[in-house]
Amino acid sequence: RVVVVGSLNVDRTFRVERLPAAGHTIHARSSSTAAGGKGANQAVAAALLGADVALVGAVGRDRGGDDLLASVAAAGVDVTGVVRADAPTGEAVVLVDADAENLIVVSGGANLCLDAAAVTSAVRAARFVVTGFEVPDDAVLAAAARARELGARFVLNPSPMRPLPGGLLGPGALLVVNEHELAMLAGDGPVAGRADAASARFGGCDVLVTLGARGALLHEAAGGRTAELVAPRVDAVDTTGCGDAFMGALVAGLAADLDPAGAAARAVEAGAYVATRPGAQGSYPTSEELTRWRRA
Ligand code: ADP
Repeated sequence: RVVVVGSLNVDRTFRVERLPAAGHTIHARSSSTAAGGKGANQAVAAALLGADVALVGAVGRDRGGDDLLASVAAAGVDVTGVVRADAPTGEAVVLVDADAENLIVVSGGANLCLDAAAVTSAVRAARFVVTGFEVPDDAVLAAAARARELGARFVLNPSPMRPLPGGLLGPGALLVVNEHELAMLAGDGPVAGRADAASARFGGCDVLVTLGARGALLHEAAGGRTAELVAPRVDAVDTTGCGDAFMGALVAGLAADLDPAGAAARAVEAGAYVATRPGAQGSYPTSEELTRWRRA
């Protein structure tokens, strides 16, 4: 079983011609509301690809919370570990321009109420524990501690980036970052060298770097091996949620016993698929949809 400890947000998306500059007011071409949050997205992506997934998180006692729980559960995710907090459900405002570039503001709300006790009691049987940075450090640390106790692989996507608490990662953990996050952790220079540096800095964990249209690079600490996973060429429409689809597909692959390079290759493909469709969760593929797309 895969347990995702992470956020649930109501996403308000505005499609615009061009992202506005400070002080400007512009008209959107269209707007929509959808289920989002990195934790929910990752859990849904993994469940649609056939993994047994539970989500641990927090929503408010409001309509947004009800809607999120219903839609995540409908994708096959076990949501019994999502608590109702005395704070409004998390929200995100997403602007997407004509070139599929995006700009996102998140209000954490109930996600920021997720505490260590809730995580510790909800993360039970797990082979993989996945978490991100839209929940407090205490929740992230509790998830890592539970993973260690259960002998589960800990997969961290530290997004949005903040300084990593000490002792969070170590041998056997997998750190997944995009290029901006890698730059914050390991500076400038060729990706492979920086992935190696990040691995050394964080206790000899494995490091997977997503590279947008270029795919991803996997650095495995054991043996110091590096694998490049090339993304299929696609016409990107909206890259919102690509990184989360990547994470979900990655852990679904690992849970199906693919090796890390095989799981990363599937993740790259799922990320590219999602880039060709508007929205996040609503555009995530099932295994059949991904197979059909690959053959087309
Ligand atoms: P994030 O969205 O977290 O910043 P990336 O931009 O690196 O992360 O994208 C994550 C993954 O999504 C990539 O590894 C790739 O698989 C896929 N992806 C994103 N943008 C594109 C694109 N333009 N073409 C093909 N695949 C893409």
